[in-house]
Order: sequence, then structure tokens, then C-alpha cells
Amino acid sequence: MRTSNFLLSTLKETPADAEVISHQLMLRAGMIRKVAAGIYNWLPVGLRVLRKVENIVREEMDRAGAQEVLMPTVQPAELWQESGRWEQYGGELLRMQDRHNRDFCLGPTHEEVITSLISNEIRSYKQLPANFYQIQTKFRDERRPRFGVMRAREFIMKDAYSFHLDSDSLGQTYDLMFDTYSRIFTRLGLHFRAVEADTGSIGGNASHEFHVLADSGEDAIAVCDKYEYAANVELAEALAVGGPRPEAAHALTKVDTPDQTTIDQVSRFLDINASNTVKTLLVQGAEGGLVALVLRGDHELNEIKAQKHPLVADPLVWATDDEIKQTIGCAPGSIGVVELAVPVVADRSAANLADFVCGANQDGVHFTGVNWGRDCAEPEVFDLRSVVAGDQCARADHNNEEDQLSITRGIEVGHIFQLGTKYSEAMNATCLDNNGKAVVMPMGCYGIGVSRIVASAIEQNHDARGILWPDSMAPFQLVITPIGYHKSDAVKTTCDELYSTMQQHGMEVLLDDRNERPGIMFADADLIGVPHRVVVGDKSLANGTIEYKNRRKDTAEDVPQNGIVEFLL
Ligand code: ATP
Ligand code: MG
Ligand code: MG
Ligand code: MG
Repeated sequence: MRTSNFLLSTLKETPADAEVISHQLMLRAGMIRKVAAGIYNWLPVGLRVLRKVENIVREEMDRAGAQEVLMPTVQPAELWQESGRWEQYGGELLRMQDRHNRDFCLGPTHEEVITSLISNEIRSYKQLPANFYQIQTKFRDERRPRFGVMRAREFIMKDAYSFHLDSDSLGQTYDLMFDTYSRIFTRLGLHFRAVEADTGSIGGNASHEFHVLADSGEDAIAVCDKYEYAANVELAEALAVGGPRPEAAHALTKVDTPDQTTIDQVSRFLDINASNTVKTLLVQGAEGGLVALVLRGDHELNEIKAQKHPLVADPLVWATDDEIKQTIGCAPGSIGVVELAVPVVADRSAANLADFVCGANQDGVHFTGVNWGRDCAEPEVFDLRSVVAGDQCARADHNNEEDQLSITRGIEVGHIFQLGTKYSEAMNATCLDNNGKAVVMPMGCYGIGVSRIVASAIEQNHDARGILWPDSMAPFQLVITPIGYHKSDAVKTTCDELYSTMQQHGMEVLLDDRNERPGIMFADADLIGVPHRVVVGDKSLANGTIEYKNRRKDTAEDVPQNGIVEFLL
């Protein structure tokens, strides 16, 4: 690609409304432009990167035997009514009507469509197991879209759905997807952790999230390197998605927190779990009495801070002061966190709701009763002995000083889930087993945030000058920067030749043939993050050399002109 023929819309200034570095750099590098809140154009530089991610995801899904399909973004309400989610899904589901007043929605996910499709197409156990995926636009009317494409309303997801005769088969495909995801994120050059996640309202046995580790992450994960332990720091949830909360049904359970825990520490942990559910009751024993707050899923930490305390706004308050006092006896000046159990809709037992529950990526290891210590500075590090309770963590050596659990931030880039028969049962997706008996097919679903990955990679790979793409994601691998392309025949000829030679070798090359100052060309190449750069000028050509610089290194080196092609390959 020649820059003279390429939309290189770089910006010098950092756009004011972009909070996180990836959003800033994606705007500055001319990768995306906002159309509306959470809705973006992808410009050529950005799209090249997005396609890189898509291709790696596609290659690895194909390798794992999954079959690519393409489902519609517009979905009829009937399918969602069949699964029961038309009522349950809440505000993220963008509903609309066609000219005949029929209800439709923009697909935030595709369980309904795929289950309906496969129930008609698969008849026999001989066709199972089968795994179908698509890479496609999703729409979720996020309450607060932010961080550019990281939390967008319209975004690209790879979603896959597997169908099975029995749960053993589901377990095998699930494990295969776990490995496939690990391969994908490794190939993308990301620093990531797999984390056991909440199975939430769906129930089911297993769910893992894949998190790219980054300070700007909206999730918190607990990591213990010694045991290769990583968990989503979930607060136990009262699952009440969308449904009305019966007045009498709540029950409060105390969760101990050290007296000195600061409101910020609590808030940070609560914020972590923001999703679609009503979650946690935060109680502050301040001079003025107790304050109660049920954190709604979409609640934002910033909003808490902005409101200061008392953090209250009806209808968020569900418990009276007296109820709280009776339950936790919170001392003035301290903060307690209590869980609100909602038996009517909660999938979890009240016992579980009593503690913070951390999943683990080892079988049967769950840390419960996780608290955070006093005076903990970032990164927060806890001795496992102080955070582990119960015999479920028998595998951890509580007496070992090295058992450190640190809390770190993560960006959820993938999520795999054993759905079981939730959708196949509701939508009557059966197939015949080898006795000719109809069996409801257990299902798995597997999502990857393709467009979110682009932003996550930047969070992990940038410096003061711009993006540092891993080679696998770079929009171009090589940029040729001529000094005097329009003045010197030698420079022009050398650049043109090198450009076509490297292209013939399959390299994606950007030749900066603009009539710009070198400083501007260097700055643009660094900003968009091209990993390899050569500079061709009369001076070095006279010495028979070409200057090479790796984007991640501070210094350049001179490479003999006649060996430059081999050097770059
Ligand atoms: P989050 O907790 O960030 O809201 P989610 O758990 O709702 O994500 P899933 O339903 O698990 O998302 O969807 C699969 C993947 O799609 C997620 O792991 C994430 O990478 C991506 N994703 C979800 N919501 C968004 C969004 N608003 N913008 C960009 N990517 C998203
Ligand atoms: Mg979400
Ligand atoms: Mg999530
Ligand atoms: Mg998820």
C-alpha cells in the first residue's frame, strides 16, 4: 500500500472525550471514528487490524472442526418469546417493529436463532457433536457505552454454539474450545489469563472467561501464580435480571470486612461485577446512620464517586436501616458488605450468597469468603491464608508464605459456557439417539469479542509514540520511509523495488510516498504501530546501507543494501 493511495487519518492531539489509552490511540491512529454513542466506523487502518484478529479466530475455529455460518442481525421476537428471553433480557435488547407492526430485535447474541436452525437441520446422533460459529455484528444497547470499541453498542463478536448427544460430549468440546481460545490469544500475542466464571442465571456446570490483563480493565481477577490460579473476583450475585423484585423476598447475609476497609476498596470490588444483574447491598455505617444501596448491574464506579455518600437513590434501596442493623450490626464509621438474596429468582443457594465466591481454574477449587486486607496498596496482595476459607481449597498450601493472591484488572475478551439444555429444552431441539429415542441436545456457547480484542491489544502494547502491534495484528508489518522520494531517483528506485520485492514475499508493506517531512512520516508510522521500519535516503545509499528499526527498540541499525531483503524476511 502506498500512503498516497491510503486514508492515513492520523491526529496529533489526544481527543478530549477518550478516557483510556486504546480509545485515544485508535482515534489518533485513524482506526475508528464515532458515528453515535457506542457505534463506530472502521477506517482502513483499523479494519486491517480487525481482519487480522478475525482471520486468526477463523483459522483456529476451523482447526477445531467448527463450521462457519452466518446468521441475521435482525431476529424475530417469536424466537425470543420461545426461549423466554423476550421478557427477561432487559434494556440491552434493542427491540423494534417492522411496517406490519411485527416485533423484532437486533441480536445481542444468537442462542435462539442457532437453536431453532439446528433443531430443524440435525436429526440424528450421527450428526453430533457439531459446532457452528460466525463472526458477525452484535448489538447491545449498553447503558453506558465507553472506551471506544471496548464497550460499544455495535461490535463484532465471534460466537459459536455446539450441540451434543450427552454432557460428556459437551465437556469434550468445551475443553477443545478452552484450548482453542488459549491458542487464539497466544497467537495474538496477548498477555491473558483464563478465569473460572460465574454460571449465573443459566446454571450449567462450567464457564470460563478469558481476560487480557490491563489496568484499565473493568473486571477484577484474582491471580495466584504459584498455583496457576486465576479467578473472576465475583461478588455472589442475586440474580434478578429484568424481573420485578418481590418486596418480601429479600434476605440479608453479612459478609465480614475489616473495619478499616475504605469505601473506595469496597466500591472498586462492587464495580467489578457490574453487568446485567442486581447485585450487592453496600452498607456504610457513617455518623449519620446506615446507608444501603443495591448496586444495579450497570452501575458505574464513577457514578458512585460522583454522587458521594450517602449513595442512595430509590428505587435502589431495598432494605431499611433497621433490617440492615439487625443483620450486620454495622458499627458507625465502618463499612459492611451484605449480599441480598432473592430466593424467587436467585439461582444460587443462600449459603453461597453469604460469601464472595471466587472461581478457580482448577477442578473443585473455589475460594470463598474472600475479603480484602487493610491498607492494601496497589497491587493488592493477600496471603492466601487470610482469604481462603473452608475445605474447598484443600489444594492450596495455607501455611506457605509464597501463597500470594493478587488482585489484578482484566478485560473480558472471551467467554465459554456449558449451557446444558436451557435453550434446547425451551425450543424443543432434539435429535434421535441410537435407539431411536428423542434426546434434548445439551449445548455449549463460546464467544470472543473480536473488536474488543483490538482495543485490548493496544492497552497492553503502546508507548508514548503510539501503538506497538504484535506482528500478528499489525496493519502492515513493514513501513518504508524514503528520505527524498520525490527528489532522488536512487531513493525512489530503491524504495519501489524493495516495496514490490517484500510484497512478493507476502509481506504487507506501507510505502510512505507522501511529500512530507521525515519527522511526520516517522511519527505516523510509530503511531499506527508498524513493527518494522526501513529508512532509505541518499546518504545511507552512498554507504551501501539501509537503516532498519524495530518499533519496540530505541536504536536503529544499518543493514547492507544487498542483504536487506533477507534481513527483513
Ligand atoms: P461484559 O461483561 O464486558 O459486558 P459480557 O459478559 O456481557 O461482556 P458475553 O455475553 O460473554 O459478554 O459476550 C462474549 C464476548 O463479547 C465478551 O467476552 C466480550 O469480549 C465481547 N463483548 C461483550 N459486550 C461487548 C461490548 N459491549 N463491546 C465490545 N465487546 C463486547
Ligand atoms: Mg455485558
Ligand atoms: Mg461479562
Ligand atoms: Mg461474558
